[in-house]
Amino acid sequence: MAELRAARDRVEGADLIEMRLDTTRDPDPAAALADRRTPVIVTCRASWEGGQFAGSEDERRRMLRQALDLGAEYVDVEFRAGFDDLVAVDHGRRLVLSSHDFHAMPADLATRARAMRATGAAVVKIAGKASCLSDCLPLLELSRHLNADGRMVLIAMGEAGLSTRILAGRYHSAWTYAGSVRDVGQLSAETLLATYRFRSITERTAIYGLTGSPVSHSVSPAMHNAACAAAGIDAVYLPLPASSADDFLRFADALEIRGASVTIPHKVSLFDRADDMDETTRLIGALNTLKKDGARWIGRNTDLQGFLNPLASRGIDLRGRRVSILGAGGSARSVAIGAGAQGARVTVHARDAARAAPVAARAGGVVGAWPPAADAWDVLVNCTPIGMHPNAEASPVSFHGPVAGLVYDLIYNPAETRLLREARAAGCQTIGGLDMLVEQAIEQFSWWTGVRPEAAPMRAAAIARLAEFRAS
Ligand code: NAP
Repeated sequence: MAELRAARDRVEGADLIEMRLDTTRDPDPAAALADRRTPVIVTCRASWEGGQFAGSEDERRRMLRQALDLGAEYVDVEFRAGFDDLVAVDHGRRLVLSSHDFHAMPADLATRARAMRATGAAVVKIAGKASCLSDCLPLLELSRHLNADGRMVLIAMGEAGLSTRILAGRYHSAWTYAGSVRDVGQLSAETLLATYRFRSITERTAIYGLTGSPVSHSVSPAMHNAACAAAGIDAVYLPLPASSADDFLRFADALEIRGASVTIPHKVSLFDRADDMDETTRLIGALNTLKKDGARWIGRNTDLQGFLNPLASRGIDLRGRRVSILGAGGSARSVAIGAGAQGARVTVHARDAARAAPVAARAGGVVGAWPPAADAWDVLVNCTPIGMHPNAEASPVSFHGPVAGLVYDLIYNPAETRLLREARAAGCQTIGGLDMLVEQAIEQFSWWTGVRPEAAPMRAAAIARLAEFRAS
């Protein structure tokens, strides 16, 4: 209890603190409530509802009753516990009646919600597991029909349910839970408040996000939310881990999402579902951005411009230069078409020449040997993941003596790859992937909002997030 109380007193930024007595060896409601500076919810979760309490139901009931008698602002009681005497105290005015399903979203949500609300409990909490974005939609439906008074807290547990935590107001939830239980998708209070600006999200806040799978290790939410804050734009950007293109589109339409970044594995499936797109994106054959225009989804690929901007800002012209591209995947296609459009002589090098051929053909280029010779290029662009964290000691090419030219590595983690380090030592000019990462995001943000954001806050947010990932 001493540890729990110390943790309680360290909390910053919360309006209400849940004290989980069941996580202690010596559960004691009086100790939980003593000297509190912030209102609390006293909870002693039963093991049959996902908690850790090992004692009897009588003991649990007695402790929760004691918490109420001692003046706890709220006490959490499971709907299934059948503690009717506790529910009746003060006509339920200090009661959080809760229901959890850690495996699925309950099929009987509306019936359950009605029965729970009928008890008179001040707050009804329903949490179910979301396996995909669409699993949040029954909660959204419920919030529209049964939660106009904001008496319920509706939570989809798991990464796919993040919208119910960050956009708690859209689900008319009485509050959101912050914390460190990753399995259920909790975010820290600091992340909710600082990154997602939780307190400034309203009904009018525009929603954007990153869809793909997985998306938890992306820096895009950090970059775009930093851009929103710096530009003073009323918008929020969420991780949206979709199980399929359909899953994303159903969810995005229901939540009126205005635009999304798209990453693996949906770059092609959503390309096929977009209602319209520009010719360059069509030529690339994959998109990384969607924007809602009325009822239509418009696609775009900002990787190409993101690749070209750092060259332009350095005054580098690719016209007539020999550009060797390593790899034949999605980014290689954007880079090859972008370089080709600038008048470069493009060669595509891949370990599988058959894959390089169509990429080279789209850019008016040719296929070269894997790996390329050191004197075969003026500009070398790495579009493979070779050298990316955690395999940072790898490099796609070796340097044996001085080389003139430019080496551009799309990898941004680490910021300086072994390829760039060795190229610089051999005398080459170098550009790292962070520049492109920020530029492609700037292009997305500008297209969505009509406002061109400053690069510096986005870059700083990306660097900070990458450092967090490396440390974890
Ligand atoms: P992708 O579509 O999976 O393509 C990867 C390419 O690399 C494929 O051609 C693959 O060949 C090749 N490759 C992978 N491992 C290899 C190895 N050990 N030896 C030789 N070739 C290998 O990936 P992508 O989306 O193009 O991304 C590639 C890299 O660029 C990633 O590190 C990504 O993070 C980075 N990127 C950065 C930005 C940015 O904004 N800075 C944007 C996009 C991508 P096979 O087909 O034979 O497997």
